[in-house]
Amino acid sequence: MSELNDLYQETILEHNKNPRNFREIEGADNEADGRNPLCGDALRVYVKMDGDTVSDVAFKGSGCAISKASASMMTQAVRGKTKEEAEKIFDEFHKMVTGELDIETDENHLGKLKIFAGVLEFPARVKCASLSWHTLNAALHGEEEVSTE
Ligand code: ZN
Repeated sequence: MSELNDLYQETILEHNKNPRNFREIEGADNEADGRNPLCGDALRVYVKMDGDTVSDVAFKGSGCAISKASASMMTQAVRGKTKEEAEKIFDEFHKMVTGELDIETDENHLGKLKIFAGVLEFPARVKCASLSWHTLNAALHGEEEVSTE
């Protein structure tokens, strides 16, 4: 696992320093606030839909390196996907960070997101890693806010 851990560290630091899609979307179809009180992470996720497809997704807010890096990679992972595909990835991501999905043996669509399997070793960080995904899910379902508690 140490190779994955190195990749995990490097990727988190890089995305935290230079988060992708860190902006507001004017005229977003959906937006939701996500809060993780345990760590103090607070993100707002914006979604622009084209029919059933996520044509644009972005986020703003503040939080720890893991929550920001995860949000950054979430936006990359779901752009251009249908709502159903985005929900599938969310489901797989959630199962991965809670230990229900084994990235080595279970079929999945996680791609680069697999590096977050590393948070399993740090239970307090699971909510940081999954916050942006819960917030995206809330936005896709027309909910305005979500809290990890
Ligand atoms: Zn955090």
